[in-house]
Amino acid sequence: MQGYKTDFPLLMQDKTVYIDNAATAQRPKCVIDAEKDFYTCHNANPLRGIYELSVQATENYENARKAVRDFIGAKSVQEIIFTRNTTESINLVAYSYGLSNLKKGDEVVVSIMEHHSDLLPWQMVCRQTGAELKFLECEKDGSLDLNKAEELITDRTKIVAVTQLSNVLGREYPIEKLAEIAHRKNAVMVADGAQSTPHIAVDVKKLGVDFFAFSGHKLYGPMGIGVLYGRRELLEKMPPFLTGGEMIESVSRTSAVYAELPHKFEAGTVNAAGAVGLKSAIDYVKSVGFEEIHKRELEVSAYAFEKMKEIAHINILGSEKAEEHNGILTFTVDNVHPHDVSEILAADGIAVRAGHHCAQPLLEYLGYRSTVRASFAFYNTKEDADRFLDSLSTVRERMGYGK
Ligand code: PMP
Repeated sequence: MQGYKTDFPLLMQDKTVYIDNAATAQRPKCVIDAEKDFYTCHNANPLRGIYELSVQATENYENARKAVRDFIGAKSVQEIIFTRNTTESINLVAYSYGLSNLKKGDEVVVSIMEHHSDLLPWQMVCRQTGAELKFLECEKDGSLDLNKAEELITDRTKIVAVTQLSNVLGREYPIEKLAEIAHRKNAVMVADGAQSTPHIAVDVKKLGVDFFAFSGHKLYGPMGIGVLYGRRELLEKMPPFLTGGEMIESVSRTSAVYAELPHKFEAGTVNAAGAVGLKSAIDYVKSVGFEEIHKRELEVSAYAFEKMKEIAHINILGSEKAEEHNGILTFTVDNVHPHDVSEILAADGIAVRAGHHCAQPLLEYLGYRSTVRASFAFYNTKEDADRFLDSLSTVRERMGYGK
């Protein structure tokens, strides 16, 4: 049973059981074709030339922006900034909004569940401005007690930055409620959507976030294209992050007038082919539908989850309920180093990830140094799960332990 795999050329020609989707997803043929079509038929530097090819390139690029606007429910294309990835999007907010709005005595609240991409930029701006970084801690099962958020977010808080979905625990966090708390204290809400956008329908207006970041490559789109959504009123007031070509109206020897939104934040030649590929990925995800994506992911990951519990010496991090994992199963095997686990799985043709998953503070908080993460996507099948489980059940024996 190939299911949706037939849409993904790599999955059809490579027999690896690919369950490292939280790191990067595979791309469907339509995405690969869309990028190829851009370079084959429409390639020119967008936003510059007035000749036909450049106009086409610009149109393709700006159509992709409209697709992103609609996908996340933003009000206007001015609020959609193309970046390289989530990391760059959050750095943009930190350097531009953070540096110009924070001062000594202010606080930035992040959660302990943050990926380093939503932590290091805040460490940096706090160091530079004298603001203090505060941590919203989760419960041992990864859930969040909103009363703790109510206590931690105060009048001193200027920025709250939290992931919508943990890349380690797979759990979704109540961004809408956190945004409401943040706004009551006059803080801005930044949400990291790197892991949520492939799993749940996002509406930035409904979430009430001020900034929202995500990456194309986790959403079945190309690498090297990401998005920052920002509320227009805030973006208007923010200084540019990077400066140079494309982002100006006019330049004199000593000063410059910056371009209107969103171009003010898109310095240099843009990744038009990446944007076109991202549009195609969005169209693809919409055509499958989040209901179907969710159903398939849950089916395969809940099956793996229950079977993993039956294997002795496996400890799964986070919730007891499969439906709270969004396909992400992070675990350890007693007395076997996670890298050895992943090596054994790799030898059996199974792609998982071992390490700290760029979330070292979370792992330390939960009492781990390193773990293994299997992350399922809607194209993974029960056969994939069975091959993973068969291999996993032999790990301890192959490391010299009894069954
Ligand atoms: N945030 C989260 C929650 C992530 O899982 C990741 C990617 N692992 C990132 C941010 C960073 O994404 P990128 O590497 O595409 O910038």
